Amino acid sequence: MHEMSITQSLVEACAAEAEAEGARVTRVTVEIGCLCGVMADAVRFCYDVCAQGTALEGSRLDIVAVPGQALCRDCGAAMAVDDWLALCACGSANLGFSGGDELRIKEMEVV
Ligand SMILES: [Zn+2]
Repeated sequence: MHEMSITQSLVEACAAEAEAEGARVTRVTVEIGCLCGVMADAVRFCYDVCAQGTALEGSRLDIVAVPGQALCRDCGAAMAVDDWLALCACGSANLGFSGGDELRIKEMEVV
């Protein structure tokens, strides 16, 4: 379950920043690309576990799903996709993907 290690490093990055300022984190917003293979529900579950005993304990996690972009190599159409198995409207599976594979901290609220 790689979500645990991903979430762990995410929590650690936020905690390091907050603790350096002596602040407590109340909310973290994370962007997860739909193509990066990370399950938002799993991250949410791991977050509470990882946050325990850190400046993030009791904080809220908001997850924003970011769709990927694909360009059809056959007809040239651009589309938003949420998985690697997407097909173009023309029926082609010959797509070039871009974006949608990121996982980043968008925002962090502290008190
Ligand atoms: Zn096409």
